[in-house]
Amino acid sequence: MSSDRSAVGIDLGGSKLRGGLLSGEGELLGRLEVQTEAWKGASGVLANLKRVISRLLDSTDPARVAGIGIAAAGQIHPVTQAVVFAPNLQWDDVPLRDEIESAFGLPTYVENDVRAAAWGEYRFGVGRGTKSLIAVFVGTGVGSGAVMDGLLLKGASNAAGELGHTQIVPDGIPCVCGQRGCVEAYASGQGFMRRVETALVDGTATSLKDDTGGDARRATAALVARAAAAGDEFARRIWDDAERYLGSAIANYVTLLNPELLVLGGGIMTAVPALIGAIERQVRAHATLMSRDLRIARASLGDSSAIFGAADRVWGRA
Ligand SMILES: [Zn+2]
Repeated sequence: MSSDRSAVGIDLGGSKLRGGLLSGEGELLGRLEVQTEAWKGASGVLANLKRVISRLLDSTDPARVAGIGIAAAGQIHPVTQAVVFAPNLQWDDVPLRDEIESAFGLPTYVENDVRAAAWGEYRFGVGRGTKSLIAVFVGTGVGSGAVMDGLLLKGASNAAGELGHTQIVPDGIPCVCGQRGCVEAYASGQGFMRRVETALVDGTATSLKDDTGGDARRATAALVARAAAAGDEFARRIWDDAERYLGSAIANYVTLLNPELLVLGGGIMTAVPALIGAIERQVRAHATLMSRDLRIARASLGDSSAIFGAADRVWGRA
């Protein structure tokens, strides 16, 4: 199905605000990226967002634009499409759809950013032609979404398919969400940072102390992986935890949903490609035999997958 009218797709993240203009065939006609400037509060971010949308609309004949799709990093109300809660944006109850719809007079749709990214890969990326996939993006956090039999899983609060805050270690280490033992606490950029921070405070012997200059915020996944490979015992332990817990959680996810394709993406998969092989081994070893035909592939749209997924909402396909 294609449309003769284009659509604006926006990826509103905690640090970057990305926008694209897509043709009805799903071709990216133009792309913009600015800082979100979350510290400016909702009104400042909305002003930045409206500027990006205006510039994209200015680049085409507005009569040929069918609408605006926005992927936002937060919990989206299933009916009003307000942003109920978005810790990275520091937003609480922002009526995003209504704001943008009244500002531009165009039909507007808001979707969670990771669900939009999973849909983008399904429709335009590595998942084209499949019927069911799960997508897991590992970066600052762990985000994921699932498309089953051609439908994006949403759930009662638009939160279905989220793997990052499932518990993988009962009574494990604390997570930013307030729970303990979440996948994200062990296998994400922010998880590594917090574990290195704890080690530095506790005086644990590790080369990461020098590698980071004593500042845990510099403890990237790539740095931890390198220290682990060089034989640092602490780095080895937290890297092994990340591989094991992420691999195990994804294997369970595959067993539960029986997808045709597992899509892996996000900043850490790019920075440490060896993680993909490690996850693949775990999934092959631990997922149910029913999933032996599962294909595993890297996300192919890079940091544009949520733009594609959001724009596709406009055509009513998600
Ligand atoms: Zn959590």
